[in-house]
Amino acid sequence: MASGAISLPQRRLPSVDQLLRLDEAVVAVRLFGHAQVVAALRESLQSLRDAMAGVDGHGIEGSVPAIDDILSEAIARLEARAAPRVRQVFNLTGTVLHTNLGRAILAEEAIEAAARAMRNPTALEFDLGKGRRGERDELVRGLLSELTGAEDATVVNNNAAAVLLTLNTLADGRNAVISRGELIEIGGAFRMPDIIAAAGSRIVEVGTTNRTHLRDYARAIGPDTGLLLKVHTSNYRIQGFTKEVPAPELALLAKEHSTLLVNDLGSGTLVDLSRFGLSKEPTVADAVREGADIVTFSGDKLLGGPQAGFIIGRRELIARVNRNPMKRAMRVDKIRLAALEATLRLYLHPERLTERLPTLRHLVRSPAEIEALAQNIMPAVAAAVGSGFSVEVAACASQIGSGALPLETVPSFGLAIRSADPKASGQAIASLTAAFRDLPVPVIGRIADQALIFDLRCLEDLAAFTSNLSHLELSGVQ
Ligand SMILES: *Cc1c(COP(=O)(O)O)cnc(C)c1O
Repeated sequence: MASGAISLPQRRLPSVDQLLRLDEAVVAVRLFGHAQVVAALRESLQSLRDAMAGVDGHGIEGSVPAIDDILSEAIARLEARAAPRVRQVFNLTGTVLHTNLGRAILAEEAIEAAARAMRNPTALEFDLGKGRRGERDELVRGLLSELTGAEDATVVNNNAAAVLLTLNTLADGRNAVISRGELIEIGGAFRMPDIIAAAGSRIVEVGTTNRTHLRDYARAIGPDTGLLLKVHTSNYRIQGFTKEVPAPELALLAKEHSTLLVNDLGSGTLVDLSRFGLSKEPTVADAVREGADIVTFSGDKLLGGPQAGFIIGRRELIARVNRNPMKRAMRVDKIRLAALEATLRLYLHPERLTERLPTLRHLVRSPAEIEALAQNIMPAVAAAVGSGFSVEVAACASQIGSGALPLETVPSFGLAIRSADPKASGQAIASLTAAFRDLPVPVIGRIADQALIFDLRCLEDLAAFTSNLSHLELSGVQ
């Protein structure tokens, strides 16, 4: 076969150099750079060679693609690879703070502040009054104290870091006393017993799953006690025959025994949500007033800011937290501090909060307004999905998400899309859901009762939503 090898089709594949001389390749090199284009072309040629080798060199005379087609295929792959992985989506799941969809979206004020900090040198650790080195926490310390009543505050990467750092600082090698009913798992890798262990503390569980009494804590306190830890049961409720010890009683007990009370609030809101018609969730100021020595909470849950974790409380304890070398590994950068400061400032003017803070704006949106929106876009969605599906406006229930008011739902409206063919419904809905995920701006809903539900609580940009719909491709769905 040695002489026959010359006539094998793979010998007639163009060389990388030949491909690079084509006009389209010159443009691609300008866009993606020489190295990426060459690598993509080599990949294309190799896969063609592999495919041909599998056919034994016989009867595939016509199967060498045209040189232009080889190039176009390589460029299409480069373009697909260059598309951003951090993709914007429409969150129509009905969960306002969806952890998998990035939790809070930020206020315009926060976005502008973050963009300014990104574009420019910023006085991050520089005291402009005194003209010397300053501290980055200074930028938000005053605001946090004002909004929560705490003596002092510091900011770290997220609330998991806030809990970890607090425990490591105040109870390294010592006991953290916690109720069995509060040993939460938030999802992913955040399980309270693991965090306590990772902080170097020993967990001392008290009480039972459903009932923990003050005397249970009292009995557990001893010379090795570093602190009492109270944890907001963010994503579940224990109901029925239950008992938990209110924070003020725990604070008193801690004081009597010269130990500390740390209250991990999780979502932690800065305003009383009942003023906006939502259920009351304990505020951070409540937790401080109830006597906790330290309170920890998240920046991107109900607070509506960027990812961050706050540690607030007594001045000398915050000073100890700040002296912990771990703090450096968890600090936040200028971009987030800028966004945080701007977000916190909005809380100084609570009357306009529901306008400016998207999280709250979405949460308080009236069912009537959402229903009108649903009626408005229903024809466009019906036209896009075609005759294989029915689309109707339906009442539904939104959730806050991210461990705030876990049993609470907020009445909402949306579109319910069902297959016209009840026998093939599961497959049709699965394909339709995939087609919506495949849009230029993926649309994420939820499936319930064989229907794809789009809860419209968080939809604001109607024009963007409808123009996006025109790209819906339902090949093979119906
Ligand atoms: C969400 C939550 C955490 C973790 O906060 P992140 O900001 O997601 O790190 C910790 N504790 C409680 C009670 C929570 O609800």
